[in-house]
Amino acid sequence: MSERMLKFVSRDRETPVKRNPGDRRRDFDEIYLRFADDKAKEQASRCSQCGVPFCQNHCPLGNDIPDWLKLVAEGRMEEAYAVSSATNNMPEICGRICPQDRLCEGSCVIEQSGHGTVTIGSVEQYITETAWANGWIKPLSPSRERPESIGVIGAGPGGLAAAEELRREGFKVKVYDRYDRTGGLLVYGIPNFKLEKDVVARRTKYLEESGVEFVRNFNVGRDASFADLRKEHDAIVVATGVYKARDLACPGAGNKGVVAALDYLTTSNRLGLGDSVPRYENGELNANGKNVVVIGGGDTAMDCVRTAVRQGAKSVTCLYRRDRANMPGSVRETSNAEEEGVIFEWLAAPKAVRGDAAKANGIRVSRMELGAPDESGRRSPVEISDAEFDLDADLIIKALGFEPEDHPAMFGEPDLKVTARGTLRVDPTTLETSLPGVYAAGDIVRGASLVVWAIVDGRKAAAAITERLTAAETRPLAAE
Ligand SMILES: Cc1cc2nc3c(=O)[nH]c(=O)nc-3n(C[C@H](O)[C@H](O)[C@H](O)COP(=O)(O)OP(=O)(O)OC[C@H]3O[C@@H](n4cnc5c(N)ncnc54)[C@H](O)[C@@H]3O)c2cc1C
Ligand code: SF4
Repeated sequence: MSERMLKFVSRDRETPVKRNPGDRRRDFDEIYLRFADDKAKEQASRCSQCGVPFCQNHCPLGNDIPDWLKLVAEGRMEEAYAVSSATNNMPEICGRICPQDRLCEGSCVIEQSGHGTVTIGSVEQYITETAWANGWIKPLSPSRERPESIGVIGAGPGGLAAAEELRREGFKVKVYDRYDRTGGLLVYGIPNFKLEKDVVARRTKYLEESGVEFVRNFNVGRDASFADLRKEHDAIVVATGVYKARDLACPGAGNKGVVAALDYLTTSNRLGLGDSVPRYENGELNANGKNVVVIGGGDTAMDCVRTAVRQGAKSVTCLYRRDRANMPGSVRETSNAEEEGVIFEWLAAPKAVRGDAAKANGIRVSRMELGAPDESGRRSPVEISDAEFDLDADLIIKALGFEPEDHPAMFGEPDLKVTARGTLRVDPTTLETSLPGVYAAGDIVRGASLVVWAIVDGRKAAAAITERLTAAETRPLAAE
């Protein structure tokens, strides 16, 4: 064991410096600063090298965390980068936005013993940022160019991970996206204060320099039929995400001033990228000077409340129908929102939007309590009678989750099988759909999930395609 490790007994856990809430409220910059070199080494050296790496087991990618922590502690950064990038296509992105408290860091052994987890995510980000800064990340140059071509539909993390892995094998790779920029929700969903957009653009540039072709503003099903794409390519990866927003079902839900979370967040991200958005210019998607109520308790709701704070809202309240302990969003992001001045109304659900079709003017809220568990095992919220209250609200943002669009209809492929939830039905080992040679990855398979899981799927689909298309070459001669 390196004597540089096991420092959790003498060194406390530290995260990179977090900017103070007063400054954070005024801009959209990331809220955590980077680790300085000596701090990253010091924090990595807290790892106990415990022998049973629970952190690795709870990382969806199975990242070799103890090894790269040890290499960082020893100052062997280029090797740390090689180990970290062997299992993850975007370590600097996962390091920033994975809910580590629920994944790697939540199962760290020294966290369990009360010493505070190793700051795995921040060290992961630090390793890859160091690699970019030192020019260690070079475009791919496959040892052999292959004749087969793969089409990837969707340039979110699932599609980008698949594209990289396939290009590494020497396939021709063409990625189609209906947006004008690549990155999917990394660009148009997740706000800048969690993930600055040049971090995403740098990944796309690297893939372009590696020979991946991107076709933007191209909506498959409208600009080309799915059947045409299947004819053009030897295999397809569908990584189209989930975009059908769940709606609010209460009186007044259609009033002006009630808006969808993704419209609101996409607008804010577009403004940050220098676009002009008419629905912001006319005030509809601008929280400035307004009393804002966001409905929902997931990551999307957290991103909306914090965006509203930065746009200069008069007040920002989050309504969630269960309690804090049962909130689906990241604990870290909830406390960041509280620090920035967001008010949380737990056990509270919308009863009616006040005002009229021309203008929302307040919201009536029901107080809830937790009742018996539902089929998923979670306790269902039940309305308490005669416990309603009103909140001022002139912008109400619905962040109630997302479902898949109707893919068989969108692609004109009735044989593309879907589950009862509308996600694509796949073989769990290969991620191949019901259409031969068509694979799927990310949210369109899992339902709304996480970036790290989309990367897992993209890699898995790419591996299955590679195995299928190269199987003939690796067959033993005797079998010919
Ligand atoms: C507001 C918000 C905040 C989030 N915060 C976090 C977080 O902090 N941490 C985390 O891990 N996860 C977070 N998530 C979840 C995460 O963003 C998703 O799980 C992840 O992006 C899924 O990746 P994907 O590649 O499957 O799909 P997406 O990222 O959704 O990408 C799908 C792409 O497919 C394209 N597309 C769709 N249909 C077509 C078509 N017909 N033709 C061409 N292109 C098409 C879309 O334009 C899009 O670019 C958040 C999600 C949201 C909405
Ligand atoms: S990818 Fe996510 S879960 Fe895995 S080590 Fe990195 S931050 Fe942790």
